[in-house]
Amino acid sequence: MVTLEIAGLRKSYGKFQALKGIDLTLERGLFGLLGPNGAGKTTLIKILSTLLAYEEGEVFVHGLNLRTEGHQVRQMLGYLPQQVNLPLQFTGEEFLEYAASMKGVLDKRARKREVERVLIEVNLEECAKKKVKSYSGGMKQRLGIAQALLGEPKLIIVDEPTAGLDPAERIRFRNLIASLGEQRTILLSTHIVSDIELSCEQAAVLLQGELEFKGSLSELASLADGFVYEVGIP
Ligand code: ATP
Repeated sequence: MVTLEIAGLRKSYGKFQALKGIDLTLERGLFGLLGPNGAGKTTLIKILSTLLAYEEGEVFVHGLNLRTEGHQVRQMLGYLPQQVNLPLQFTGEEFLEYAASMKGVLDKRARKREVERVLIEVNLEECAKKKVKSYSGGMKQRLGIAQALLGEPKLIIVDEPTAGLDPAERIRFRNLIASLGEQRTILLSTHIVSDIELSCEQAAVLLQGELEFKGSLSELASLADGFVYEVGIP
């Protein structure tokens, strides 16, 4: 089944058109959304995450219409925003338990099992009882991903996850995303090509609110190198 289908999506802020008619279909796996600062990536992601209204177009997540079935769509999504506010005084485990209850996992034992599962998936089980304020930037991002994995969402949306990470943490995070993408559908937004080149098979490039490219990473790589530099993607 198609996980995400977007047709003719438009969004304006006042007179400024941030998205000028986006068409995009995602089936399974890891999909990279590339684009320089200001291209419209966060706008698109906020719409998909049901945080922002849109004027025109249709969006379906796993066959459900975002406009009319937003509540059900929200339950199918895992979202890691660009700036995630983690409660620093909580332990990783406490935060995830709280997040799981917010996602509707009300039974205490089921919640514990779910939290244990996602901690293992992101390799944080040994730090589960440590306070979030003692975590490195990379650990915080992995905790954010763990939160997005709660409840086995059909679509995981990750917005610029490696901004602010040091090179070693960046590599670790990329490897984690790549392994998660083997089993799931993940839309990963970034302006850094190397965030996705080892793991994504499909990508799209957003430029000034329009999708300028959709296809495989090998097709993207075969375009003139200049294309990538022209759009300001390192
Ligand atoms: P970045 O990588 O810098 O986050 P982006 O590709 O995610 O960039 P958006 O944040 O979606 O881009 O912004 C797209 C355009 O819309 C930019 O020109 C931005 O200035 C504008 N924009 C975003 N939010 C608003 C807003 N609330 N009001 C007015 N303009 C906005």
